[in-house]
Amino acid sequence: MKKNGSKETLLAHLGRDVAKAQRIINPPVYHASTITYPDVDAWENRHKALYTDMVYGRFGTPTSFALQDAMAEIEGGDRALLYPSGMAAIAAAILGLVKTGDHVLICDVVYAPTRKFCDGLLAGMGVETTYFAPGIGAGIAALIRPNTKIVYLESPGTHTFEIQDIPAIAAEAHKAGCVVLHDNTWATPIFFDSFAKGVDISIHAATKYVVGHSDAMLGALVMKQTHFPAISAATAMLGYCVGPDDAYLGLRGLRTMAVRLKQHHKNGLAVAEWLEQRPEVSRVLHPALPSNPHHALWKRDFTGASGLFGVVLKPAGKASVAALIEGLELFSIGASWGGYESLVTTCYPPRSAEPWNPEGPLLRLHIGLEDPADVIADLEAGFERMKKIKDSA
Ligand SMILES: *Cc1c(COP(=O)(O)O)cnc(C)c1O
Repeated sequence: MKKNGSKETLLAHLGRDVAKAQRIINPPVYHASTITYPDVDAWENRHKALYTDMVYGRFGTPTSFALQDAMAEIEGGDRALLYPSGMAAIAAAILGLVKTGDHVLICDVVYAPTRKFCDGLLAGMGVETTYFAPGIGAGIAALIRPNTKIVYLESPGTHTFEIQDIPAIAAEAHKAGCVVLHDNTWATPIFFDSFAKGVDISIHAATKYVVGHSDAMLGALVMKQTHFPAISAATAMLGYCVGPDDAYLGLRGLRTMAVRLKQHHKNGLAVAEWLEQRPEVSRVLHPALPSNPHHALWKRDFTGASGLFGVVLKPAGKASVAALIEGLELFSIGASWGGYESLVTTCYPPRSAEPWNPEGPLLRLHIGLEDPADVIADLEAGFERMKKIKDSA
């Protein structure tokens, strides 16, 4: 295993042990439930090796260990754990850190199911959530209570792509002994160095760019060793584990992630720049655009942008939006993103810390690996269709 070199180099070599894999390039896909033991002593000491060595199928096989190791190393964390989805990773991280009577601080721009988890399961077990505005910075200190355990970030945030000042927030959180969690699905370890910026546990919907081909559900947590005992214990109690084929698809996707992301960055930005000039568009929510209010913070902390961003149209009715979207040839309407293909959805961000009222319909675009000129032509035809619809906003 090569531990030095750029991230591109690491991705080609992490999690690979060619000797162990019988000289084959990729690790074998082990299908396993029962793992056998040579003697009683080994059997009775098995709990010391959960998620590290072979104990029982639920605690991993060499296939999942290879992906875990690669994820931890590419992001610069000590340990990683895998989950059957990004949402499962989020639930395990939070449940591993809180108990009844605790309080958590959650950024207002988080993935909507994360909010549902806090307002549902967490509230039901007596854990209180306070949502904070993404621009809070060091002001987070004023919201921290003696029982606050977690400060949870997602930068840029789902739907509105607002960047949070993670180093400033993390510094205050750490002064108060809180654990800083960050959903790094958008930037991935390629474009955002979670641990260098003060994050303690980095969360990934690996379903997106890690898998990268829209063909598997997968989650991952990358963490410092300090948090591994609590998070791995919660993971074991919840019974989460990952199928070997999905772990393999994650590992396979990871190999090309840096190359794909560079292209998503380029294609996404080209489309965003074009959209910004269109008379039908009010604003483009893409932090890599110099006109974006979050651009300076993005530039300071990130090294690239993925293919996902938002567009606020000028006021338009439902039929106009449908005419734009439904005739697109290269875009499908669908949740999830991070695959090679372009996607579009309408969205309605839930906010509670501060209002966020777009002046027109909000669309979320994922720009895939198609030629951006073709994507732009597709959208241009969509705007032409939209012009022919006479409905009111
Ligand atoms: C999709 C997504 C998740 C959830 O991942 P799943 O694998 O779909 O459960 C979490 N966070 C963000 C930011 C996402 O976009």
